[in-house]
Amino acid sequence: MRGGAYDFVQKPIDRDYFVASLERAIRMRRLDRQVADQQALLEQHARLLEHVDNGVVLVDAEQTILYWNPAAEAITGIPTASVLGRPVAEALPGWDAIVGGVPVSPEPGPSARDATVPLDVAGRELWLSLSGVEFDGGVVYAFRNLTEERALDELKSEFVATVSHELRTPLSAIYGCAQTLRRSDVELDDGTAQRLLEVIAHECERLTRIVGDILLANQLDAGRLRLVQEEIEVDALVGEVVEQMRAALDGGGRIELAIVSPGRLKPVVGDADKLRQILLNLVDNAVKYSPEGGRVEIRVEPREGGLRFEVSDQGLGIAHGEQQRIFGKFYRVDPNLTRGVGGTGLGLYICRELARRMNGRVSVTSKEGQGSTFVVDLPLVAARSEQQATAVSQSA
Ligand code: ADP
Repeated sequence: MRGGAYDFVQKPIDRDYFVASLERAIRMRRLDRQVADQQALLEQHARLLEHVDNGVVLVDAEQTILYWNPAAEAITGIPTASVLGRPVAEALPGWDAIVGGVPVSPEPGPSARDATVPLDVAGRELWLSLSGVEFDGGVVYAFRNLTEERALDELKSEFVATVSHELRTPLSAIYGCAQTLRRSDVELDDGTAQRLLEVIAHECERLTRIVGDILLANQLDAGRLRLVQEEIEVDALVGEVVEQMRAALDGGGRIELAIVSPGRLKPVVGDADKLRQILLNLVDNAVKYSPEGGRVEIRVEPREGGLRFEVSDQGLGIAHGEQQRIFGKFYRVDPNLTRGVGGTGLGLYICRELARRMNGRVSVTSKEGQGSTFVVDLPLVAARSEQQATAVSQSA
């Protein structure tokens, strides 16, 4: 026992062994620190990914979702908890069909170009700009939501297609008439020349209306529309609208235009031009979509807190499923003109927006093949002079 103690104390220390142990301990410590640093870095990256706008998804070699950041959750509406640990094709139905077209680069960098792909999520079509980068153990996908941009692009192309068609038709008519009038080799009688000039004037009016509608829709979108407050003689205004339409119908008499009102209406306060525009658009449509002729009726009647205008026709009518959509900007039930009726799809959008600005509303009831009735309710109050007159007559 003593000798053992002596051995322990006296045994010369193996210097090499000691140095090697020390080095190993230092190396281990360094490795530990590196692992801890990397861990912290990973956690920091994961925290950063919580704040980026792009959706980020980590999919391992077995196609299981390992990570789904909050932006992915916000873009798709799919909560993280319902996708983590699930096969990607199961969590995102339709994934298998698109993944083949998604570029995946071996390392991050400018070479990773995005693909724009559609993905159906809970009955909603999302357009995603998507690309992936490989990592040892899977792929990290990043995506942006392009659904709105795409809808806007579609709207723009629809706009360009419709407007160019709508502008080209009157322009060709004007050009044709002008060319005929210019010909020196043909003697035109006065009647023919007059008719050609009328066509030119008529088509110019049409062009002016189209351009006016585009500008007005633009003003409405930009919130730049100003309403004036003036006294409106409602009967006179409705009469003007009908006269204007009759003139545009060229005395054709194919369609009967009738005003139904309960006698003389009191003057009200509002924006006469905007009211005229709403009624003109509705009467114009009633005539335009009544190919077989018939009667178009414009009714005006006082209602609690305002006036109600109704424009009804016996024309084509509107299918139930279309009755809300027709108020959308540029929306046309028949964009391919199979019924042969042109238009920009702006008329009803303008009517609804103008009525809204006037704190009123426009609605429709219709049956396909049996005509339509558009109803405009506006809170137009009696003009001051009329209120005073009523007060005087009541007190008398
Ligand atoms: P446009 O007449 O220039 O196409 P509108 O915005 O005025 O644009 O109308 C949108 C669509 O609603 C039309 O394309 C048409 O299909 C439908 N519509 C509007 N008014 C009527 C109506 N009185 N009868 C039948 N369909 C109508």
